[in-house]
Amino acid sequence: MFDERTTCAVVVGAQWGDEGKGKLVDVLAERADLVVRYQGGANAGHTVVTGETQFILRQIPSGILHRNVTCVVGNGVVLDAETLFAELDGLESRGIGTGGRLFVSDRAHLVLPYHKLLDAASEKSQAIGTTGRGIGPAYADKTGRRGIRVGDLRDLGATRRLLADRVERANSLLAMMGVAERASLEEHAALLERLAPRLLSVATDTGLLIHRALQAGKRVLLEGAQGALLDLDHGTYPYVTSSNTTAGGASVGAGIGPTAIHGVLGVVKAYTTRVGNGPLPSAASAEDDERLRKLGGEFGAVTGRPRRCGWFDATVVRYAVRVNGLTGLAVTKLDVLDTIESIPVCVAYELDGERCEELPSEVARLERVRPVFETLPGWCAVTSGARTLADLPRHARAYLDRIEQLAGAPIRYVSVGTRRDQIIEV
Ligand code: GDP
Repeated sequence: MFDERTTCAVVVGAQWGDEGKGKLVDVLAERADLVVRYQGGANAGHTVVTGETQFILRQIPSGILHRNVTCVVGNGVVLDAETLFAELDGLESRGIGTGGRLFVSDRAHLVLPYHKLLDAASEKSQAIGTTGRGIGPAYADKTGRRGIRVGDLRDLGATRRLLADRVERANSLLAMMGVAERASLEEHAALLERLAPRLLSVATDTGLLIHRALQAGKRVLLEGAQGALLDLDHGTYPYVTSSNTTAGGASVGAGIGPTAIHGVLGVVKAYTTRVGNGPLPSAASAEDDERLRKLGGEFGAVTGRPRRCGWFDATVVRYAVRVNGLTGLAVTKLDVLDTIESIPVCVAYELDGERCEELPSEVARLERVRPVFETLPGWCAVTSGARTLADLPRHARAYLDRIEQLAGAPIRYVSVGTRRDQIIEV
């Protein structure tokens, strides 16, 4: 991904999230100096396996597992500081020192307990299938210009006055939503007081930090969370997340100009999954859904919820290639398909009797599409030991060639297992 001309690259999910971005970022971070999260919150749940140890990182960039990488939580992230500190402490207790290697934007908005109460209440009235971590309400406060930012903790007196107003507002909303729970101002004030010293010790203008690193010729990796089809604007609205997950969001959420970014890698599974509600046009039959879920271990890293499984959807990935400007693809979990005798690929849709090659904008139309499947022969062989394309069975290579052709972007990486070394660089 990095070369002489590419010193700043973005890794994004090109489906509905859970594509294995954590693993890709972990692999690429070996060659990076800085790894930056630019959107989302503690709902990301990247899983990274190093040796025999598995780490699930929700708030901290997965680059933290590389000891010479500096990690940044950018301004576009909504920050759950308690989760951040719990993760930092967890890493320290497993021998991964993080001192001086993690910075948080002083412009990042805080996710507070009242956001979680509001999240749970709104999920009851409009089920989106959120992770219930307060992300949506925190972003709503940000755009409503009533958020509380990390930098606000520099003046706790003024912040307490803001807090009084915010807690009162949250409680009125909770009452309106017919929920009995209430947020406590005292508990919120005490929480902020407790968090402030540690948070301020890592808070800085991270846009400037990244800018200076780039000027000094350092390599910067921007790590997206969720996936393109969950993007607030470009995803399957309203079954989306509350931020811009696509590559454009990287510039805004990291605080650097778009011209600073040279490469965009889209991570896709060799099939498709979706957690939460909303359409999944390439859904597999009940039997294959169960089979893929078992083979792929498709249960949410944050919530443990079973993910719905389907076949590779070329319309979705083609769309992700376009809206992200993908310069390359990383195909993960190829090994999950090792035992499937023949593999359907959704090449297009049929919508109201007509062939449709583009993703409809409205969920109502997307719910009406029928998948047009093409069936490719499976390889029925173990791929997890492959380290070059030549090591793969002929039918596996043909499968990759076909999805590359349908997606319209070159495959740069193929992942064949959870471990760091189980990767093919094309
Ligand atoms: P992320 O949020 O995009 O990082 O994805 P998750 O971490 O939620 O889900 C990816 C899951 O797939 C994790 O459990 C990974 O360890 C696992 N994984 C990643 N790449 C591969 C692969 O190539 N093969 C297999 N079998 N598992 C993989």
